[in-house]
Amino acid sequence: MTNNIIKLLPDHVANQIAAGEVIQRPASVVKELLENSIDAGAGKIQLLIKEAGKSLIQVIDDGSGMGESDARMCFERHATSKISSADDLFNLSTKGFRGEALASIAAIAHVELKSKLRGNELGNKLVIEGSIVQTNEACSVPVGTSLAIKNLFYNIPARRKFLKSNAIETKHIIEEFQRVAFVHPSIEFILINNDQEIFHLESGNFRKRIVDIMGKNYNNRLVPVHEETDIVNISGFVGKPEFAKKVRGEQYFFVNNRFIKNYNLQHAISLAYDELLPKGAHPSFFINIDVNPQDVDINIHPTKTEVKFEDERSIFAILKSTVKQSLSKYAISPSLDFDQETSFNVDPLQKDQVLSPPSVNVNRDFNPFEKSGGQKESSWQRGDSFKQDNYSAPSTKNWESLFDDNNREDEEGALDDYTDFINSVNFEKEKEQSAMPFSNNSENDKIAFIHQIQNRYILTNSANGIFIIHQRRAHERVLFEYFLESLEKTKRFPQQLLFPETIELSPSNFEILNELLPDLAQLGFDINLFGKNTFVINGTPSDIPDLNSKETIEHLLEQYQLNESDFKAKKNFFLAKNMASKIAIQPEQKMQQEEMQHLIEQLLNCKQPTINPAGKSVIFELKAMDLIQYFGN
Ligand code: ADP
Ligand code: MG
Repeated sequence: MTNNIIKLLPDHVANQIAAGEVIQRPASVVKELLENSIDAGAGKIQLLIKEAGKSLIQVIDDGSGMGESDARMCFERHATSKISSADDLFNLSTKGFRGEALASIAAIAHVELKSKLRGNELGNKLVIEGSIVQTNEACSVPVGTSLAIKNLFYNIPARRKFLKSNAIETKHIIEEFQRVAFVHPSIEFILINNDQEIFHLESGNFRKRIVDIMGKNYNNRLVPVHEETDIVNISGFVGKPEFAKKVRGEQYFFVNNRFIKNYNLQHAISLAYDELLPKGAHPSFFINIDVNPQDVDINIHPTKTEVKFEDERSIFAILKSTVKQSLSKYAISPSLDFDQETSFNVDPLQKDQVLSPPSVNVNRDFNPFEKSGGQKESSWQRGDSFKQDNYSAPSTKNWESLFDDNNREDEEGALDDYTDFINSVNFEKEKEQSAMPFSNNSENDKIAFIHQIQNRYILTNSANGIFIIHQRRAHERVLFEYFLESLEKTKRFPQQLLFPETIELSPSNFEILNELLPDLAQLGFDINLFGKNTFVINGTPSDIPDLNSKETIEHLLEQYQLNESDFKAKKNFFLAKNMASKIAIQPEQKMQQEEMQHLIEQLLNCKQPTINPAGKSVIFELKAMDLIQYFGN
């Protein structure tokens, strides 16, 4: 036995451990390599990806290149050309400085480096596997550097297993690529995914870069923001309020040319929009914040995207007032030409290309029990009268917050809460009785009484009293079961469109839609690949007339992004639910007698007619017995 138990870790082990911190997924490699190319002064950077970076990540640049010994040295830990003393840390203008990335990557992947220093005749080629140099030879290559990273995490199976699906890892890579590309509009960037060119971003100004990445229709969505002060310079663009999104996605802060997240500053921008945005909508923004390097602490973890400002309060205030000013300028004169920076031409928008503003104008405070319909409203409609002793009807909580985001509960969870209610309605039993409000028997139809209240609820007689049906939720339930059946069993047929519609998507939405195509085909959509990031919709489900196919698809993609993990776990459920909620009739809409009758019939044919797919009550039954209890004799 020896008492000396402390050992120095061998280098390659230390590198593997460090790699775990710096390199979490293929996208982290992408970030490090792109940043190195920028630091090397590249004018053009190409990124090649195979299998979501799991088999290949290659970055080719035309930057300074490396000489023979640097090409070897760069893989050593703490090897950096970017700082030489601790003081330099406070004046960084480069992206890297820790000299950690390449050493880490070389410890966990197969790396091939080809590089030639400007002015040199020959370049060098190095092959490294698990930190060990396999090949080191002179070769003829162009000036600049090419780094190919193959089989990432080949020697850390646990890590490799931990990686997400190719669609998700690709999405992360694209996000990282975009974050870097946004702030370096003067550099030409190319992204090739599985041999397909996804982006070719020509060099230009910031506005052109945003439009090239986000899509042509962004050109008329941007309001410029500009302010220079002693503390901070702010520049960039915010989105016009009418284009705000339900998903908080298109929000980019760049501090001294690095993408960062900052909830506080995000809030400053939201405050600047003030009343301009409907509740729950998030503005897009692309904001550069430039401060003296000494006034910001970026010397934190390489994978983190937070920074500490010396004077965040002032930056908050300046940002808020600058954005507010820009927005009010735009509000006063929305037609004002903001294209000062347009040194490029984009095609004018086609009429049908304009995306309609998000439909977020629902009244979240709506309370069906609130007074609105004059004194006619009888007391039983009000929640408080149900709180009488011994009253066993469902509590009014089921009726509250009608229009809350209906994504909160899923069907199963909600079922428990509603068991009482379901039991109290007990459809199965009623179906056996002849007093059903509707059977297919036309005689019964005549006896039945149907009436719409406030264009919202349908009243009809039940076996024991009255049903009050929430029309939108009823319709959601009917559609939900129809779509679920389509996805699980019965493939529906498309109705071919006379005028096929094209739909242009961001690369990440493109990936998602690609993944959903088989399901959408099952629902009766006929959608095909049309070109780069573009699909063409040739047909829509024939059973659903007047479907706005583009809006529906966009809604599905948005919901997918909002609830990615739920979607993945219960795809059919979520697709059916979101299709239903997109297509169902509005909460307030006049309905014809036959429409109501048809809806009630369909609803009562459902497997679970009492709740909508989000778990909220569809039917309320007021029983004669309860009336007796309420009124006394
Ligand atoms: P850091 O970027 O923190 O210095 P890295 O491990 O990322 O550390 O890179 C180590 C060194 O390798 C860099 O400092 C730089 O000198 C050199 N290097 C890396 N990539 C390139 C490239 N694409 N072109 C030229 N030199 C590079
Ligand atoms: Mg680096």
